[in-house]
Amino acid sequence: MTKKVAIIGAGVIGASTAYFLSKEESINLTIYDEGTGQGTSAAAGIISPWLSRRRNKKWYHMVKEGAAFYPTFLSEVMEGEEIPSSVYKQVGTLLFKKKEEYIHEMFTIGKKRKVDAPEIGDLAILSPEEIREKMPLYTGANSAVWASGGARVDGGRLVDLLLSKAQANGAHVVRQHVTFEKNTDSNDSTYIVKTKQSSKQFDSVILSASAWLPDLLMPMNYAVDIRPQKGQLVELQLTNWVTDDWPVIMPEGESDIIPFENGKIIIGATHENEKGFNLTIDKDMLNNMVLEGTTQFSNELHQAEISTYRSGTRAYTSDFAPFFGEVPDLPNVFAASGFGSTGLTAGPLVGQCLAQMVTSEPTTLPVEDYPIEDYIKKVN
Ligand SMILES: Cc1cc2nc3c(=O)[nH]c(=O)nc-3n(C[C@H](O)[C@H](O)[C@H](O)COP(=O)(O)OP(=O)(O)OC[C@H]3O[C@@H](n4cnc5c(N)ncnc54)[C@H](O)[C@@H]3O)c2cc1C
Repeated sequence: MTKKVAIIGAGVIGASTAYFLSKEESINLTIYDEGTGQGTSAAAGIISPWLSRRRNKKWYHMVKEGAAFYPTFLSEVMEGEEIPSSVYKQVGTLLFKKKEEYIHEMFTIGKKRKVDAPEIGDLAILSPEEIREKMPLYTGANSAVWASGGARVDGGRLVDLLLSKAQANGAHVVRQHVTFEKNTDSNDSTYIVKTKQSSKQFDSVILSASAWLPDLLMPMNYAVDIRPQKGQLVELQLTNWVTDDWPVIMPEGESDIIPFENGKIIIGATHENEKGFNLTIDKDMLNNMVLEGTTQFSNELHQAEISTYRSGTRAYTSDFAPFFGEVPDLPNVFAASGFGSTGLTAGPLVGQCLAQMVTSEPTTLPVEDYPIEDYIKKVN
């Protein structure tokens, strides 16, 4: 029997889930996505979770496995063709710290973590000269930790790729805002998803709506522990340099530098907790961020033309931990949120887990480590 499944929200989580579910012949899949403020298409694109002091072991397990999953996942998606380097490429990561002792601390953390995470690749402390060999615009005098397994991903292009594969497998994509509710006309647990013009019944629904998850569940009397955080960044256009293989650069502070192909360089991002869903671009703030973030680099970088300003919304729980699973008291409704600033890293793997839950298979990540019932509660 064909099962009708809806996905609400097609950022990296929803689009990855869609890719997996679209391959199931017994599933008829519809994906709804409004798109405004989407975190995935605004994201900086860093996949490099290993060199961090954050102590949450379950979070680390998720992002470590998420980073390791990318190459395998994308090879599968590309069905033997080369992974487009405009979507994803392992270019390595350079991590800077203001104090030399912290560089050594991070290098030691990296060495320890490599035992369980060989995908971190080669680890080394690079001198300024060695850094310049990888990124010629570096003019600073500090050393940095190098991890060759670090990668960059273009979130918008990744989503486009995954949705195009899902559509090729027969999934329908509807670019509209929707609401959803229980189907009260039926004794079975089925659900209705409504656009302004129409409504459709589903056997199973995935809520991959990030910071907008409370809007979907509040009308059904759920309290959802999720808040939005605004993030802004800039895209610079460098001329005269081949940037395709430049590494991701993570200085201390907010201004990471993520080089893409054809001279495109992203600098960002801000973490603004008080702005809610506001997406207004603050050019003065961003121009200052570029100036501050590029002091250790040649003028060419901070004088480069800003081609685009981007703004998007992250989702956080009150204890900063992500969750996924079946929504309490809503059989066959699954949700995932709270991925904060590392959702691009975790996204494809969490998407696989959501798809596994729909098809009643064991999940790759242990669902009990990311308990949805701690964050989504029925209020009456
Ligand atoms: C500026 C910035 C930089 C970042 N940089 C990185 C990074 O370098 N590395 C990293 O790992 N992570 C990064 N992140 C975090 C990452 O982007 C997010 O954690 C991740 O994209 C979340 O994915 P998602 O699929 O849960 O949500 P989103 O990508 O936000 O997608 C949710 C989608 O659901 C849709 N939606 C919501 N409600 C409805 C509805 N009712 N009807 C229809 N559609 C709906 C929205 O329109 C949206 O398109 C960054 C985030 C920002 C904002």
